[in-house]
This record gives sequence, structure tokens and C-alpha cells, in this order.
Amino acid sequence: MNRKRCEVKPSLRKSRKEIRCLQNTKQAINKTIEHVEYGKRPATEEYANGYLQALHDVQAALNGEKPSGKYWVTPAEMQTLKEIIDASDNIVFFGGAGVSTESGIPDFRSVDGLYNQQYDYPPEVILSATFFQHKTADFYKFYRNKMIIDGIKPNAAHFALAKLEREKKLKAIITQNIDGLHQAAGSENVLELHGSVHRNFCTECNRPYDISIILEMEIPLCECGGLVKPDVVLYEESLNQAVLAQAVHYISQADVLIIGGTSLSVYPAASLIYYYGGDKLILINNSETSFDARVNLLLRTSIGYALGQKD
Ligand SMILES: [Zn+2]
Repeated sequence: MNRKRCEVKPSLRKSRKEIRCLQNTKQAINKTIEHVEYGKRPATEEYANGYLQALHDVQAALNGEKPSGKYWVTPAEMQTLKEIIDASDNIVFFGGAGVSTESGIPDFRSVDGLYNQQYDYPPEVILSATFFQHKTADFYKFYRNKMIIDGIKPNAAHFALAKLEREKKLKAIITQNIDGLHQAAGSENVLELHGSVHRNFCTECNRPYDISIILEMEIPLCECGGLVKPDVVLYEESLNQAVLAQAVHYISQADVLIIGGTSLSVYPAASLIYYYGGDKLILINNSETSFDARVNLLLRTSIGYALGQKD
């Protein structure tokens, strides 16, 4: 990466640029100190990541760049989150790709995501129903390489949500992710809007298959000879209406709705949250969204950090 360095000459007279750079640096260092002081609790991987991010921000400031402020949440914001969660037994979580990126799964739409990588076709073309039908081998090559990630494990966000469900505080998780990590962390009521890589079925006889057939055969075929397809909603396909209806049900009945790791820019995320009628809408996201001004509590941080620090 070609970073513009911020050079401050050892003279008393500082240019406006040098002053700005120093101010940014000072600000970033203060924020880091605040962050570290606040983190006087058992270290978790997410906390370490947050700390590292803060250090990167200091580095950025030293290089004359604007710190991203990504993981900077205040103790007061964390306290409010804790109080809202403690007081409720009807929480619904709506999560996007950001929940899984902390487990090392790339976010399609983020800056580092798949959309910015180079393939013969854009991911949204490869992951379409038409492409699956006509270029099945190419579909599976991409799917195996990019959609099924070996050795991934649930992160602090998944575990924190599973714990809330066990404590009978969380009613449902609605996710746009297809990796099954919520279930791996122990969550039971998970509504997978886009399906799951762990479920596969024969397009001829509907026989179910687990993920191993996808990994083992170049073009996975059923015993009957039919083509096996992942139970994943491809582009051009519509969402499972029953799952969608359940999601609407839980969101409309929820006391607290926590939205995490999604920019809310993709259907159905943006439209689903309008079913929430309460006044405890919490948004936890690393970057800005067009909904930031409409939520009751906005935490500009990672889900793992926010939920993992809760207790
Ligand atoms: Zn079959």
C-alpha cells in the first residue's frame, strides 16, 4: 500500500498540514488510551482485534491519514447496550456478512470482499441460477473455493448470541449468512434467509445431502443421477417465503432488535427492519449506513466486540 507519509520537520514553525497531522495523531493516541483503559477485562480475540485496529488508526494518523475510528465505542454506549439487553427477554438479532467476517469469511460487498477480486465473471453472475444450470462445473469450482471455507469457527458474536438464546432472552437470529456458524456456536432458532451450505438436495428426487458430496465430486450427482444443488438462494432466485414470513413475525413482535454487520443496503435487510415497531433498535456496524440516524443506539464497532464484551 502506498501510504502518504506525514513528515513533520523539526522546526518551530509548522505548516497547516503538519499541524493537522499532529492533531490527528494526538487524537488517535488519546482514543487508543481510552480504548485500552476501557478494556480492563479478560482479553478476547475480538478485543485484541479492536485494540489492533486502534493501533492501526494511530499508524494511519502518523502517516497523515484520517483514522477510521472503526472500533471506537464509548463506555457509555456499551453500558446502554448492556442495560437494554439485561432488561429484555424478547430480543431478535438480524445479522449480515459482518458477523461472519470476524470468523474469516469474506464479505461480498465490502471493500476487501469478493466483488473486488478478479474472476472470469463477476461473483453475482457465477452465483446465479442461470450460471448454475449452464456452467455447473465452473459454478462449483468457484463455490468450493470461495463459498465453503475450510476450518472456520464461530467467533465471539456467534457465542454471545447463542448464550442469550440459552438465557431465554433472545428469540431468534435472522441471518443473511449461509455458513451455519450460528448453529455451530449452539444457536437453535436461526432463520437463514439465504439458505445454508450445509444443506444440499437433488434437483430430481429431492434427496438431501450434506456438504461432503459438494467437496468430493466435481459436479455433485445424486445416486439417481440428478444434479445436487446447494440449498442456497442464488441470484435470480427468490427467498424462501416461509423463512421470510417467520422473520417478519419475529421482528414485528420484538422488544429489542439488534442489527449487526450489515450495511442494510441489500434486499431484504432494508425492508425487513420496517416491521420493527419498538423503540430499542440497536445497530452495530463498522461502517456508516443510511439507517444510522434512525436507530436508538448506534455502535460503530464489530459485533464480536460489542456483544462479546457484554459480560
Ligand atoms: Zn436424486
